[in-house]
Amino acid sequence: MAEIRFDGRVAVITGAGGGLGRSYALLLASRGAKVVVNDLGGSFDGVGADTRPAQLVVDEIKAAGGEAVPNYDSVSDWESAQKIIQTALDAFGKIDILINNAGILRDKSLIKMEIEDYKKVIAVHLDGTFFCTKAAFPHMRENNYGRIVSTASAAGVYGNFGQTNYGAAKLGIGGLMNCVKQEGAKYNILANTLVPVAGTRMTATVLPPNVVEKLKPEYVAPMVAWLVSEQCNVSGKFFVAGGGYFSRTAFVEGPGIFFDDPDSVTPEDIMEKIDAIMSLEGGSEYGSATEQTTHSLSHMKFD
Ligand code: NAD
Repeated sequence: MAEIRFDGRVAVITGAGGGLGRSYALLLASRGAKVVVNDLGGSFDGVGADTRPAQLVVDEIKAAGGEAVPNYDSVSDWESAQKIIQTALDAFGKIDILINNAGILRDKSLIKMEIEDYKKVIAVHLDGTFFCTKAAFPHMRENNYGRIVSTASAAGVYGNFGQTNYGAAKLGIGGLMNCVKQEGAKYNILANTLVPVAGTRMTATVLPPNVVEKLKPEYVAPMVAWLVSEQCNVSGKFFVAGGGYFSRTAFVEGPGIFFDDPDSVTPEDIMEKIDAIMSLEGGSEYGSATEQTTHSLSHMKFD
């Protein structure tokens, strides 16, 4: 089996001062990547800043014989996100790989959630992923090569109590990657979405200590490494990884039912056919909005 290597490749990993991001940085660097270790260094809920976490990971990579530089800018605004990508260009001359991983949590039930908790979580996860991707994309396009992995969560894909802000941001990130897939296809830029689970300071707020201890972030890293490798040949997909479990999740649309005369459809018709409408049996996973719309309008005649 061919070994996966990153010699000559430049990677930016956001939020790589700890947790999952750190494990990606160490693995990629150990296989030859030059890494920008970005981390703002605040608390798990996004307060404060500290240069030490990113610097420590850089020191660790260098001590093991790898190449890395730190960056301490926030992903959550356009000006500073551009500086993160610029760090790769200044230090290593290009960017091949972007792993959007930085994140914070501000869990509260919908009723108790402050508007600021909503905005801050959207800013770090969704805006941060958009800004870093937008800043990196033109350079990847120029080199006709790019591998982007962005981080969603089961909270977004499936829902979780107390995480309306986080769930919205996380599924938004999946939608963003679905569209980047389309725009990157012509330029050999692949964009996938990760749904990880790992014991980190973030999950230490919700998982018992024995579970946190067992779910090492390193267990997620092989999936990410393949997704950002030259060998990766998929784009616009959602991958689940954690604790030795690897899988793919997807939006699947049932075959549905068609009414030839949409003018005549009543709420009672829907009630009568709801089982067939709900059924996913024989369903499809569409590669684009155009493919989906082509199916849903396939019974209509247009002049
Ligand atoms: P973590 O808190 O250890 O790592 C997140 C890192 O992002 C921190 O080091 C933090 O300083 C950094 N960061 C926060 N705001 C930043 C900003 N504005 N700019 C730059 N860096 C910033 O948590 P983790 O569990 O390793 O999380 C990594 C990613 O994985 C997050 O996006 C998280 O939402 C996602 N995720 C984690 C799990 C899990 O089980 N751990 C599950 C689903 C999704």
